[in-house]
Amino acid sequence: MFVDFNELKEKTSFGEVVRLLGLTLKHSGNQWRGPCPTCKSGGDRALVVTEGKGFFCFADKKGGDQIALAAHILACSVKDAATHLAQATGTVPSIVQSTVSTVPESVKGQETQKLQPLAYLESEHLAVDAIGFSPEIVKQLGIGYAAKGIMRGTVAVPIRDEHGSLLGYIGITEARLPQNFTTNILRFPKTA
Ligand SMILES: [Zn+2]
Repeated sequence: MFVDFNELKEKTSFGEVVRLLGLTLKHSGNQWRGPCPTCKSGGDRALVVTEGKGFFCFADKKGGDQIALAAHILACSVKDAATHLAQATGTVPSIVQSTVSTVPESVKGQETQKLQPLAYLESEHLAVDAIGFSPEIVKQLGIGYAAKGIMRGTVAVPIRDEHGSLLGYIGITEARLPQNFTTNILRFPKTA
């Protein structure tokens, strides 16, 4: 899953992370302080979280941003911590959820005629980034913003059959991408 660390940090306060992680810390002003459930040492004030600044664990002598805090408490990698936070806060999309009608711009009676990809789709567009697709996936799948046509104003995602032939497009404005989206995509059959 693609998680923009900067975006996640911008949208997720330390207070929110403290709450999401279920940390039992004493809150005072812009700071939380209490025992570190991961290190289980350093006393009952080992962990300090300061809103807008960072966290520090005196037991581990390590600190960092919101994602690093989640990684420390969940005892996982920074990447996994970011994914966890993104899903918990709904910052980053996770399973396709389309709000726009699905309109296959396709097959006008002639099933033998191969549908060609829409040439006007813009792969580099803010709307494409907004959905959460990584540039690699955008390129690999032929995803792009439709500035015109019947999917105007949406991000067009190609629909292909099991042989990889283009059947049409689905226009979306938001999506929840599966957690293993990237690896799934890499297993897609190559199109001719
Ligand atoms: Zn610790």
